[in-house]
Amino acid sequence: MSHIKLLKTNELKATPQRLCILDTLRECGHATLEDIQKIISAKFPTLSLSTIYRNLNEMIQKDMVSEVKFANKKDYFEIAKEKHVHLVCQKCKKIEDFEIKTDEISRQIEEQTGDKVLANTISFDVICKDCLSPK
Ligand SMILES: [Zn+2]
Ligand SMILES: [Zn+2]
Repeated sequence: MSHIKLLKTNELKATPQRLCILDTLRECGHATLEDIQKIISAKFPTLSLSTIYRNLNEMIQKDMVSEVKFANKKDYFEIAKEKHVHLVCQKCKKIEDFEIKTDEISRQIEEQTGDKVLANTISFDVICKDCLSPK
């Protein structure tokens, strides 16, 4: 689905700012607020961090964008997609997605502990294959 259509389906106006944020996320995969600002400042030099954050939040409310939390790291944002875990290379800091049925793990936790899982943000520290065998 195009980003314009995606916004319209979610009853958000397809403003150039929102489209630019979505394009940036699509391109980067995962980006922090600062990453996004750095990239879109070429097009929108006056767009403040708080405006970007407000736009992101509106899209998070509509489940179009997800917030990704890592221990000891800034929050990242990504286009919402299938449930997955993150593989974070400890050398080059690259973040990769790995699709896995995390719902099943959450269900087991809830069953065995009686707790309610609110979010599962599982990440694995890895050394990616490119860093393991540099060309
Ligand atoms: Zn790496
Ligand atoms: Zn991801």
